[in-house]
Amino acid sequence: MPRKISPGGAKDSFKKMNQQIQQYATKILAGQLLERPDIGQLSGLSKDNLDDLLYWANEIRKANFGNTIKMCSIVGGRLGGCSQDCAFCAQSLHYDTAIDKTPQVLDDEQIMAAAKEAKQKGVPNFGIVYSGKKVDGGELDRLIALTKRIKAELSMGVCMSLGVVSEENMQRLSRAGVVRFNHNLETSERHFPEVVTTHKYADRIKTIEAGLKAGMGVCAGGIFGIGETEADRIDMALELRRLGVDMVPMNFLHPIAGTPLGKAEKLPPREILRIVALYRFILPKTHLKVAGGRVLNLRDLQSWIFHAGCTAILTGNYLTTAGRAVEDDLQMLKDLGLKTI
Ligand code: SF4
Repeated sequence: MPRKISPGGAKDSFKKMNQQIQQYATKILAGQLLERPDIGQLSGLSKDNLDDLLYWANEIRKANFGNTIKMCSIVGGRLGGCSQDCAFCAQSLHYDTAIDKTPQVLDDEQIMAAAKEAKQKGVPNFGIVYSGKKVDGGELDRLIALTKRIKAELSMGVCMSLGVVSEENMQRLSRAGVVRFNHNLETSERHFPEVVTTHKYADRIKTIEAGLKAGMGVCAGGIFGIGETEADRIDMALELRRLGVDMVPMNFLHPIAGTPLGKAEKLPPREILRIVALYRFILPKTHLKVAGGRVLNLRDLQSWIFHAGCTAILTGNYLTTAGRAVEDDLQMLKDLGLKTI
């Protein structure tokens, strides 16, 4: 005999699910943080209640960040030829990808031109990214001088991503005016050895801590869609919360032919929105920056990231893959009534 469905019953069960997510959101809006058991429950609920999760993630974003969105663009100061073996990366020497095996280093004028272009297009923050395990010696001196020049000539905030940096060199970068240092965890400590074997998770934590100690903003996050579990995602978010970074870049795998993850399945757009929203609940006052993989994976749902709690975007091209024109991103933010900072 077919089961009778009472419209009232269906409504009650909808309300009950909504109330649980609402309770977590209310707790966060009152200034509290969710702990692991609650996050686990929220994660379970999020799969069948994405609309509720997004609604509250957006409320948390608005309460903590208003209508402002940070925007940055990057240039690959050194591209390719990296000795490390990150399984998702086109720049690793370990894999046969389309990127040149000899590192390509931009000179001062090429970096200045990229910074000027970003400024002219209305992007307030500019990052210089180097491939490789570390940068030191004369190359670091050159980057310090360039930071001072960009600050003086263009009044732009300069960010750097240079791999492993010692405490002493981090202090030098900070004194030169580097506003934020990027160094990602990539994934959880458990999953990390499945993705990288040439350096340790602890090395990454040490560099992040050195940046924090030097008084710089620290931009540290990871990449999703690399075979991690939901527990790995939560672990990484909690580790970033423990470290106290102020910006979490969220990259979504763009599979690169020739790398071990070259044939990995891409994350569906709504799953990406769910991950961003879950991070907004776990890290309510931390900037969440949707970076690599946005265009390829989110397609027409790109503008939904702000509704999921995102407060920053990487615009223009990424290091080894094409991004979106700055003009299109600025128009999207304007259409949404959001202000670029
Ligand atoms: S992610 Fe960075 S460290 Fe890893 S292989 Fe690519 S350039 Fe090298």
